[in-house]
Amino acid sequence: MTVIRGATTIATDSAEEIRAAVAELLEQIESRNALKRDEVLSIVFSSTSDIHSFYPAKAAREAGFASCSLFSAQEPEIEGGLALCIRVMLFVEKNITPHHVYLRGARILRKDLAQKYNIAIDGPAGSGKSTIAKLLANDYHILYLDTGAMYRACALAAIRAGIDVEDEVQVCDLMRGLKLSVIYRDGVQHTMLGNEDVSSCLRSSEVTMAASTISRHASVRMKMVEKQREIAGKMSCVLDGRDIGTFVLPDADFKFFLTATPEVRAQRRYEELTAKGESVDFETLKNEIAARDKQDSTREVAPLKKAEDAILIDTSDMTIDQVLETIKRKMQEKI
Ligand code: C5P
Repeated sequence: MTVIRGATTIATDSAEEIRAAVAELLEQIESRNALKRDEVLSIVFSSTSDIHSFYPAKAAREAGFASCSLFSAQEPEIEGGLALCIRVMLFVEKNITPHHVYLRGARILRKDLAQKYNIAIDGPAGSGKSTIAKLLANDYHILYLDTGAMYRACALAAIRAGIDVEDEVQVCDLMRGLKLSVIYRDGVQHTMLGNEDVSSCLRSSEVTMAASTISRHASVRMKMVEKQREIAGKMSCVLDGRDIGTFVLPDADFKFFLTATPEVRAQRRYEELTAKGESVDFETLKNEIAARDKQDSTREVAPLKKAEDAILIDTSDMTIDQVLETIKRKMQEKI
């Protein structure tokens, strides 16, 4: 007999998520261990005490494990323990070398099996990078690093100091004394200039265009890239930007490049800004995006470019859920 272990996490305590997470976990265990259903004798689940909505055992029954015996138990509340976690033990008839499976946030439970990993998502403005990166980070319980916010903060500092963002020498001077940092509160990124949280000052069109210009300079990129590599070196994270797969983390475990037609991207930005109550002109926005695309993809240092080994996804006709599912499927295929 063989015993195979596994675990996964869910984002919220709902029956639907428990069903999906259990089905995914059991499927992965089956495929990685080349199991047939009738070789599974019994399955024992335990879930953390913050899970109440559904029995994992029932989810397994629904997922087609009809003939084996199933059991679910609840774990005690452990301070500092992983939240919303479902653990499983499968008792299998044949003797094999078990491949244990740890998914999503539970990967950190077995560092020997699940190494730290980084996901690089690059693409032009409005391609859906940041929306998708945030959702992925949330689903996998890993960090989301918005690298664009860092270049935006450099631009804001330059504007405040009255510096011409085109001027290499002035910008280089500014960068030498710049105290830029990224901190996280409840998993949300806050971009800091000194002690000031400037996160809410970074989205104006003045800062947006200045960010695209200032990010051309090598002095800016080197300083930001060093910080990005430092963060990504310490923990699993999703980074979105223009040069993550090509320059910041050429060895990232997963690389995606998102695109969409210029019209769709401008429309998305238009909807995003009008939803926030800002009055914007569609044509101006479209021209601004085109200007940024050109500037970002033609600069000398680390331009916006798809890494050769990145998976290209054209999101023009896809919903957010479809993009997210595609990315997750591609990642599962690679693991
Ligand atoms: O992604 P976001 O629109 O916030 O980025 C703002 C600007 O920062 C981009 O237009 C680009 O010029 C620059 N950027 C960059 N490299 C990154 C992320 C952003 O050059 N990794």
